[in-house]
Amino acid sequence: MGRIEEVKKLIEGFEQLVARCPRCGAQLSYVPSTALRSNLSFRYCRSCGYVDVEEDFRRVRMPPNSSVLLSWLKRKSEETKEKEGVIGRGRTVRRDEEVVEVEAEVKREALRDSLDAVFYGGVLHVVRDVRIDERCVEERCPAVFELERHEEKVPDEGELLFSEPAFLYDAAADILRSRRAAWRGSFLEPLRGLADFFLPACVPARDLDRWQRKALAKILRAGRHDVVVVVGPPGTGKTSVIAAAACILARKGRRVLITALSNVAVDNALERVLERCGDVEVIRFGIRSKVSQAVRSRLKRLTGDVAARIKEGGVVVGMTAAKLAALHLVRRLYELTGPFDYVFVDEASMMPFAVAAVPFLYGVRRVVLGDPRQLAPPLNEEGKMRGEKELKEEHVPVVPLVEAVMRRWNSVMLRRQRRGRAEIFRYVSDVFYRGRLDLSESPDAPLDTPAKYGDLPDEILASDEALMWVEVGGRRRVGGGSFYNVEEAELAVWLYLRLLEYGAAERTVILATYRGQERLLRRAINELRRIKGGPSGWDVVYTVNKFQGREADVVIYSAVHNEDHVALKDYRRFNVAISRARVKAVVLSSLGGNAEKLPWMLAYKKTAFKVDANALRVPREVRQAIRSAESRLEKSGIR
Ligand SMILES: [Zn+2]
Repeated sequence: MGRIEEVKKLIEGFEQLVARCPRCGAQLSYVPSTALRSNLSFRYCRSCGYVDVEEDFRRVRMPPNSSVLLSWLKRKSEETKEKEGVIGRGRTVRRDEEVVEVEAEVKREALRDSLDAVFYGGVLHVVRDVRIDERCVEERCPAVFELERHEEKVPDEGELLFSEPAFLYDAAADILRSRRAAWRGSFLEPLRGLADFFLPACVPARDLDRWQRKALAKILRAGRHDVVVVVGPPGTGKTSVIAAAACILARKGRRVLITALSNVAVDNALERVLERCGDVEVIRFGIRSKVSQAVRSRLKRLTGDVAARIKEGGVVVGMTAAKLAALHLVRRLYELTGPFDYVFVDEASMMPFAVAAVPFLYGVRRVVLGDPRQLAPPLNEEGKMRGEKELKEEHVPVVPLVEAVMRRWNSVMLRRQRRGRAEIFRYVSDVFYRGRLDLSESPDAPLDTPAKYGDLPDEILASDEALMWVEVGGRRRVGGGSFYNVEEAELAVWLYLRLLEYGAAERTVILATYRGQERLLRRAINELRRIKGGPSGWDVVYTVNKFQGREADVVIYSAVHNEDHVALKDYRRFNVAISRARVKAVVLSSLGGNAEKLPWMLAYKKTAFKVDANALRVPREVRQAIRSAESRLEKSGIR
C-alpha cells in the first residue's frame, strides 16, 4: 500500500469513527446549522437519540457597519408603527405639574403587554401607571392612564397610540446617530483603559458556586468600556450573580443600572438585591401596576430630584430597556444622570444587537447576561428571501446581543443548575450544552399526585418519570392568523383540570408554540373556571417566548404543528420550553415520524416515557369548552 492510500485509509477510518454513535455504534446523521438557520449544528443518532452539537457563531461579520444598524432600526421602527395602531381615544381629566391623567376606553389585549410609553395627541408620553377595571370582561374596557407631564401643551382629548417597541428602535437610532463618530472606537472596540478601581477576585460570597464567583470576579475587575459576558444556561443562577455584584458595587458608592426587556426579569434581580443588601438604596422606574408586589412593597416613594440622587452614587436602579428608551427620548435622561458605572443587561439573548445602543450608552462598564441557546429575537421573515451575502448584512442587527458580544469578548459560563430534577436537566445538558451542566445540586421532588381514576391523565401525572412524551396524533389548524391544534388542546385542558383537582394548578403552566393555541387554551380555561375555579387562563397559558425567564413545577408543552414547521425547527424554543420545568415536563406532540427530523425532539422522545393518546376520549365538558373557544378564535383575528 502506498503512502497516499495509507493516509486515505486513516482519514476514512477517522471519519467512520467520528460518524459512528458512541452509544450504540449506528451511523450518525448530520444537520448543519445553516439548514436550521441556527447557531448550532447537530450530529445525532436516529436509533438511540444521542446528540452532539457544535457551535457556529460565524454567520455574522463583526463589528457591524453602523449604517446597516441604523437602516435596520429605522425600518423596524416604521414597521412597528404601522402594525400597532390606535388603542383608544382618551380625554384629559386631570393635570398638575407632574402628572396628566387620561381616561380612555382601550383594547384589553393591548394592555397585556408592557406599556412604558404611549403617544397621546401625537406626543410620546412616559406612562406612570395604567388602571383598568378588573371586573370588566369586554374586549374594550375603561382605563385611566397616568402620564408623566413634560409638555406644556397637553390636549384635551386625542388618540392613544401604543407604539412599543418602536421607541426602543428610535432611541437606539438616536444614540447611534449622535454617537456615531465617538463610538467608532469605544462602542464596538473596547478601549481597555486602566480599571479605575479593583477588587480582589476572592469576594465573600459563600452562597455562590465557583462558576458564579468567577463571573463575579470578572465583573468587579472590569475596566472602563469593557463588556463582560455571562452565559447563563437555564437554572444556573445568573440573577444571583447580578444581585451579588450590584450589592458590592452599590456599597462602594457606584451607580448601578439593571435593565432587561421584561419587567419580570428586572424585578427578579431587584428582589434579590433587596434580600441581599437591605442597606442599599434601590430605585425602580416602571408602571406601578406592572412592578411586582415584592418589589413595590419594599420601595418607598421617592421624592425630590431623582437624577441628583442617582448621580450621588451608591444606588441600584432598575427599569426595562423600553422604559430607558422612553426616558431617553422624552426626558433626555442621559443629560440628567450621566452614565452609570455599571449597566447589567439581562435577557440579552432576546435583545437584538442593534437595540443594545440604548443600555450601552448608559454604562461605563457593561455586563451582558444571556444564553445564545435560548430564544432569540424574531428573525426577519423577509430576510429569508434574499441572497446569502445580503442575508448576513441583514442579520447583523438582529443577532442576539449575547451572541454578538460573545464573539469579541470572552465569556464566563455558569454551570451549576439548581432549578429542577436531574432527569430534566440531564437531557437539557446532554443535548444542548454538550453535557457541561453540573447537576450535583439538582433538587429532587417528584410530583406526588394521587391516581384516583386510573385513566390517561393519571397515567401521565402519577408516573414518577420526569420527562413525558405524549403522541396525540392531532392536526394543526389555521385560525385567527395563527395555528392551533384541537386534539392537543383537549388533552392539555384535561390534564390541567386533573392537576386543579389534585391542588397543583398553581404549580402548572401550559406552553404553546403558537399564539393561536395560546388563545384557544386561555379561553377554554377561563370558561371552565366559572364552574371549576382555579387561576385565570392568563396565568396558566403562555407561548414559549413569553414564558422565557420564568419557571414552573409542571410544564405541559403543546407543540401544535404536525410537521417540522419553522417554529419547531428553532431548537432554542424546545430548550426553553423543557428547561422551565422543575418537576415534570409533558410534551404533547402530533409530529409522529416528523419528530425524527429534529434531533433534539428525537432525543427527547427516546429519553422520555412515551404515552399514546391517539383517538382520545376526553370528557364532554372539556370538549365543549374547546369547541366554544375555537368558534370565537375563528371569528377574531390575531394581530
Ligand atoms: Zn446511537
